[in-house]
Amino acid sequence: MLTPTWEVDPPRESPLLAHVNATATGGGVSELLRNLLRHQPAGWAVIAGNADFYAVTKYLHHLLHGQADPTRLDDPALIRTYRATLEPQHAWFADQIRPDDVVVLHDPQTLGLAPAIKAAGGKPVWHCHIGATIDPERGPARMWQAFEPEFDALDAVVTTLPEFAPPNTKNLFLIPPAVDPSAVKNRDLGATEIDALLAEIGLTSDRIAPDVAITHEKPLPPDSRVVLQVSRWDPLKDMPGVARCVVGLPRDAHVVLAGTNPTEIPDDPEGLAVLAEVRAVLAELSEVDRGRLHLVNISMRDQDRNALIVNALQRRADVVVQKSLQEGFGLTVTEAMIKGKAVIASDVGGLRQQITHGHNGILVDPADIGSVREELRRLLDDPTLRRELGGRARATVLEHYTMRQFADAYRQLAKSVHEA
Ligand code: UDP
Repeated sequence: MLTPTWEVDPPRESPLLAHVNATATGGGVSELLRNLLRHQPAGWAVIAGNADFYAVTKYLHHLLHGQADPTRLDDPALIRTYRATLEPQHAWFADQIRPDDVVVLHDPQTLGLAPAIKAAGGKPVWHCHIGATIDPERGPARMWQAFEPEFDALDAVVTTLPEFAPPNTKNLFLIPPAVDPSAVKNRDLGATEIDALLAEIGLTSDRIAPDVAITHEKPLPPDSRVVLQVSRWDPLKDMPGVARCVVGLPRDAHVVLAGTNPTEIPDDPEGLAVLAEVRAVLAELSEVDRGRLHLVNISMRDQDRNALIVNALQRRADVVVQKSLQEGFGLTVTEAMIKGKAVIASDVGGLRQQITHGHNGILVDPADIGSVREELRRLLDDPTLRRELGGRARATVLEHYTMRQFADAYRQLAKSVHEA
């Protein structure tokens, strides 16, 4: 029986603000909600799913990024599987939702609940965190058409960029994601603490930690320069492409790819395949290059521990990369920027929103691996430039992307939806 659960119980006051998403751990949305709910009283429910459902929602995810065949949606079985998984969960929501509650449905996985929330007297809002810098006709248009009944039920839509929303959306709010500077993921860490953590997980030592799986030939040397990408093992993050960037970097430069344990994120069924692809790249590298590539898989079971390790890795890095093929926003970049790191990111979607090329980071064409390597060499060899870009990156995040601003935007959204 598929039953949603409250990850955070809703506050008692009415009307309620509640969020619904597909997973309590793993990825930017759960990271955002966990932090948002520290700043704002709200409920957080997580839907249930199964392998067939997650295969469809992953397809929709790729479709919104312009990376899937839109004609597959012509097969009515796809939408049938999607709706049939959510349908048994309607009664649970009808039971929990009271009239005028604002219920924010995050990403395509939960959009299908909109008519049921509406029927229960609630005010459904869809927050779509993903989208692509492409011609919308290449993918999203087909999705907007297939989900017309869901869109008709919505009171508002939230996106990061206007082009991520369906055309003619009546009540559109633009809210970029945000980070919490004081959260475990971002709080200051001293050099001793960073060194101890990285040794404890076996990145810089021969130790083996129970919650971190590391694949490398030998530990990261203490005086090495580090290029880091932190991501889920999702095809759109191009982890194999970052692994290939190790070729041609200075001899003391190492590439660290850090991700969540791919078996722990239910709505991310492609993680193991991507990890296998990265291992294949590793196997093909020369012996010298192979010795400079480190794969780090961190368990999500203990959220704070996971956050602390990611924090330490980001602080240890000399350059943080996000070589995504498409990216709705890219919290990993925001997290690196608030730590004053020099960032090289793909010139797409939300990464383009956060970074002004040459001012607070470097934008690259992810398809042009030659120029990514060139920018990496340039930044690794220029500590002054790294410091300047990093300083301005931190200022950008403090000015535009803090959790306080995110919570305020949600407060206004809830007020406006109630008053409409
Ligand atoms: N993340 C993490 N541990 C990992 C890999 C990723 O905590 O091993 C976090 C990362 O720090 C960030 C989020 O997952 O907060 C990823 O968000 P982003 O917007 O970059 O991408 P998404 O996964 O939502 O596509």
